[in-house]
Amino acid sequence: MALLIVEDEPNIRELVRSHLESEGYECVSVADGRDALDLVNRQPFDVILLDLMLPGTDGLSLCRAIRNEGRNREAPILMLTARREEGDKLAGFDHGADDYLTKPFSMKELSARVGALTRRIRRTTLDRLAAARPIAMKGVRLDPARRSVRVRGVDVPMTPHEFRLLYRLAFNPGEVFTRERLLAEIWQGEAFVTGRSIDTLVRRIRLKIEPDPAAPRYILTVWGDGYKFADD
Ligand code: CA
Repeated sequence: MALLIVEDEPNIRELVRSHLESEGYECVSVADGRDALDLVNRQPFDVILLDLMLPGTDGLSLCRAIRNEGRNREAPILMLTARREEGDKLAGFDHGADDYLTKPFSMKELSARVGALTRRIRRTTLDRLAAARPIAMKGVRLDPARRSVRVRGVDVPMTPHEFRLLYRLAFNPGEVFTRERLLAEIWQGEAFVTGRSIDTLVRRIRLKIEPDPAAPRYILTVWGDGYKFADD
């Protein structure tokens, strides 16, 4: 789980960051609204913590900008507001915030709110997969409801992670998935997964489905970029 913390008060920023890092989240923190906007246009985050009063641009405009364009359009936003800004909370919801915390807040409260937002993402991802349709590509048939895989007529057991990765690639054959994108889309709930874990997983899937794992026909490596499912 990658979190973005946008907060100009150094004490709060560092406290929030070190606390959430101690809970296993990967955190990026910035003090300025313009820096935050640059970042959200370049990198997907799982949850964004957004201070309402910021130099550069205010939290509400930033909230609206995140919702309107770019890679974080659907990322949950937790607004951080001071008590005197209470009236702005409702405005925050209007601009697309998902929840808010009033300062001063306890670390326990912070964990609870962030935890609730990340659980929601995980559930959505699993729901989407459960509702997804079976697909068949080049002799490989994937059924998400039963999490079953048949390769050239033979049932092949898969772990949930293997299945998710294979399904994601096979659902859009020919489309290149970077490791970052696969991490963000498939492993949203798990901070311990890295680009290298994806390579390992691809190797395991190839051993299971490829006639010759050393010369893959299904999951192709795109050098320097990532992976794609063969589309020709
Ligand atoms: Ca502030």
